[in-house]
Amino acid sequence: MINQIAAGEVIERPASVVKELVENALDAGASRVEIVTAGGGLNLIRVTDDGSGIPEPELALAIARHCTSKLSDDILDIRSLGFRGEALPSIGSVARLSIRSRTATGDSAAEIGIEGGRVSAVKPAAANRGTTVEVRDLFFATPARLKFMKGERAESSATSDVVKRIAIAFPAVRFTLAGPDRSTLELPATDDTAEGRLARVAQVMGKDFPDNAIAIDAMRDGVHLAGHVSIPSYTRANALQQYAYVNGRPVRDKLIAGAIRGAFADVLPRDRHAVTVLFLSLDPATVDVNVHPAKADVRFRDPGLVRGLIVGAIREALAGAGIRAATTGAAGMMAAFRPGAAPYSHPGPANGHRSYEAAYRASSGFDPLRSAQRPLDMGYGEAGPRANGFAENEQAAFDTGPLASADARAGTAEPAEALLGMVLGAARAQVHENYIVAQTRDSLVIVDQHAAHERLVYEALKNALHARAVPSQMLLLPEIVDLPEEDAERLAMHSQTLAQFGLGLERFGPGAVAVRETPSMLGETDVQQLVRDLADEIADNDTVETLKERLDKIAATMACHGSVRSGRLLKAEEMNALLRQMEATPGSGTCNHGRPTYIELKLADIERLFGRR
Ligand code: ADP
Ligand code: MG
Repeated sequence: MINQIAAGEVIERPASVVKELVENALDAGASRVEIVTAGGGLNLIRVTDDGSGIPEPELALAIARHCTSKLSDDILDIRSLGFRGEALPSIGSVARLSIRSRTATGDSAAEIGIEGGRVSAVKPAAANRGTTVEVRDLFFATPARLKFMKGERAESSATSDVVKRIAIAFPAVRFTLAGPDRSTLELPATDDTAEGRLARVAQVMGKDFPDNAIAIDAMRDGVHLAGHVSIPSYTRANALQQYAYVNGRPVRDKLIAGAIRGAFADVLPRDRHAVTVLFLSLDPATVDVNVHPAKADVRFRDPGLVRGLIVGAIREALAGAGIRAATTGAAGMMAAFRPGAAPYSHPGPANGHRSYEAAYRASSGFDPLRSAQRPLDMGYGEAGPRANGFAENEQAAFDTGPLASADARAGTAEPAEALLGMVLGAARAQVHENYIVAQTRDSLVIVDQHAAHERLVYEALKNALHARAVPSQMLLLPEIVDLPEEDAERLAMHSQTLAQFGLGLERFGPGAVAVRETPSMLGETDVQQLVRDLADEIADNDTVETLKERLDKIAATMACHGSVRSGRLLKAEEMNALLRQMEATPGSGTCNHGRPTYIELKLADIERLFGRR
C-alpha cells in the first residue's frame, strides 16, 4: 500500500512510466532505447536498452522500495536522472512488471516479475546485453486511477511528448517509439556537439526550426546556458514548444518560463510564444532536484542569477541576430506569386507555427487565399486612412533620425554599389504609399515603412527609458496600499530599483506601503493593482519586471501613434536612411506587434517563378 501511495505521485499516467523507464535506460549508459506501447500504454509498455544491465543478485533489489544504485553519500550531488529508488516498485504495485536483464560480464540473462506488488522468483532467461522492462495492464491494481485516463490517443501522444523531450537532451542515443497505437517515431543518434544537438532538435521539432533559430551560449557566475531560440517571426500559440533542461534533466520550471517570456516581451505579441530549447548547466549542489517525486521541478539556490542569465542571453542573441524574418514565410509568399499554382496553402498551420502571412491576415484582413494575384496590396487597419493625413508636428516629437531630408524620389538612377551590399540594400521605389522596394545584390526587399518606423521609434524610446531614470509624477496625496507584511517588506527592499522606474514608495507601518510617486508615462493608473502585481512578481521571481514590461508596453503604444503612417511619401534619402537605421537597430526585423517589418525575395526564387531556372 505504501508503494501504491508513492505510485500515486510518481506514476500519473502511461507517459510517466515511459519517462521513468527511459531515464533508467539512460542512467545505465544505453546508446539505444526502444520503446513499444499498445493501447495508449495501458495494455503494454516495453522499454529495451543496451545499457549496463542489472546483475542477477540485484534484480530483487531493483524492485525493492528505496533501493537505488545511483546515490553516493551526498544527496546534493545528483548526477543521474534517477535517485529515489521509487519508480520500479511503484510501477510494480499498480501493474504487471517484468524485468529481463543481462550485464556485460554475465553469461546469461535473468528475469524477475512483480504484479500488483506480488514478487515472483528470479529465473533464468535469454537476452542480449542490456535490460528489457515490460509493463502490462497499468493501473489494474488501482481501478480508480484507471478511470482518469484520457483515452488511447491522448495517452500515446503524451508518451511521444515525453520521449521527444528527453531525447533532445541525449542526442547521441538512438530512440525508437513504436506500437500498434501510434505511427513510429525514429530518432537516429547524432552526437553531443552543438551541431549534433541541433540536428536532434530538428528531428524532434521539424527541419524548419534550425533555419529560424538563433544560437544561445552564455556564462555567468558558473552557470552555463546553451541552446536555441526562435526568431521573433517564428512563433506558436502556446508554450508547449519550450524545452528546458537543467544538467540534462528535462524540467518544467516557472522561473525559466517566466524568464523566456520576459526576454521576448517586447518582440512578441502577448498571445504568441517563442520556440526554445535551453540547456542550463550548473554545479549540482546549487540546484535542488529533490522537490517532487516526478523530478520535473527544480529549485535554484540563486533564482535571480538564473533568470538574469536567461533574459540577458536571449535579448543579446536577438539583438545580435539583427533583422531576420522567418524563411518559411518567404517560401509561402513565393507560392502565392506563382501563376497558376495550386491554391495557396500556408505552411504554418500544417506544422503548427505561424509565420507572418498569418499574422498579416489576422491583423489586416489580408488573405492571400483570396487575393493571390495582388499580395502586395495590404493595408493596415489600425493605420487609419491612406490619404496623406500624416501630421508633421506630431511626428516631429518622435523623429529618430534623418527622415526629414528631402530630394528627388528614388527611381531610375543606378543604385550605389555600396548600398547593394547592405542587408536591406538600396531603396528603388515606394509603392502603394507604404512599401519601400529595395534591391540587394541577390534579392528584392520589400519594407513596410509604417511597421519599420514604429519599431525604430519604440527602440529609441525604450533606450531612453532604460538609460536614465524614468520621469515620475508626485501624487497629491500618497496612496496607502495594504498588503501582507512579507509583501510590504519585499517591496521596501526593492524600493531603490522601483524608484529608478519612477515608482516612489516606502514602508507605512506594518503591512502597508505608501506610494508617493508614479511613472508619468503611466498616466492615471491603478496604483493599488500595480503595487500588488509587483509584490507578487517579486515573491515569485525576485524581480520587478512587471513595471519594466508595463513601461515598455506604453513605449510601444506611443511609438505606434508616433510613427510614419502608411500613406506618407518618402524621398530616396529618407527611404535609404530608414533602411540603414533598421540594419543598425536590434529587433527591427519585427514591429512591436511581432509582425515582420520587411520580407526578402531571393533573385533566384524570382527567376524560378518566371521559369528562367
Ligand atoms: P532509481 O532510478 O531512482 O534508482 P528505479 O526504481 O527507477 O530507481 O530503479 C531502481 C534501480 O534499478 C536503479 O537504481 C538501477 O540500479 C536499476 N535499474 C533500473 N532500470 C535499469 C536499467 N534499464 N538498466 C540498468 N539498471 C537498471
Ligand atoms: Mg529510475
